Amino acid sequence: MNKLPIQLDWDSIDTVLLDMDGTLLDLNFDFYFWTEHLPQKYSQIHNANINEVTDYIAHRLAEKQGQLEWYCTDYWSQQFQLNIIAAQTEIKHLISERAQVIEFLKTLGAMKKKRILITNSDRPSIALKFSNCALEPLLDQVISSHDYQAAKEQQQFWQQLQTDIDFNPQTALFIDDSEAVLDSAQQFGIKQLLSIKQPISTQLRELDSKYPMVENFLPLLTGNANG
Ligand SMILES: [Mg+2]
Repeated sequence: MNKLPIQLDWDSIDTVLLDMDGTLLDLNFDFYFWTEHLPQKYSQIHNANINEVTDYIAHRLAEKQGQLEWYCTDYWSQQFQLNIIAAQTEIKHLISERAQVIEFLKTLGAMKKKRILITNSDRPSIALKFSNCALEPLLDQVISSHDYQAAKEQQQFWQQLQTDIDFNPQTALFIDDSEAVLDSAQQFGIKQLLSIKQPISTQLRELDSKYPMVENFLPLLTGNANG
């Protein structure tokens, strides 16, 4: 694919809305947890076949994809009869910022841009991530879609966000690795949308995004994102 540099007009951007998992943080932690660690634990507890358990968990998750429950650790703790946050803490060493994220956020701060995390993760998940990474002091505001009882895939999320933080969609940049979420933001009228080239560091994306995909963060600041 012919790649053009992503050119951003920073004079026209005052607010940067940022997803957490797969955007600022490597999605490998979440991917590994739901496809490897949880199936292993569940199969040990129930003395069940690992392949059957892996399929069962994947099937249960797929039923709720894009809905708020999918992102709710309490919900899955009840469904699987296992404390999800405690289990995730066992692999906390896998929580890590994506390359260049820290410097990108610091520079945005120096440029006086508002850095707002908007995530579908619930508050216990955010707390676990924040206690194992360096993001928290580099964000001006942190919003969980659970605060609004509406996932980012839903228009109600964006309506409530606008009421809550009073941002202008015309002067906002939003970066997220989920195509469904970016589509929802576009429907709401957010002008500048970027996706992520490789949300899981250990895997290539299956499908390209129709939005420009960020490979490295720092070149965004100079308008030469893929160079
Ligand atoms: Mg994400």
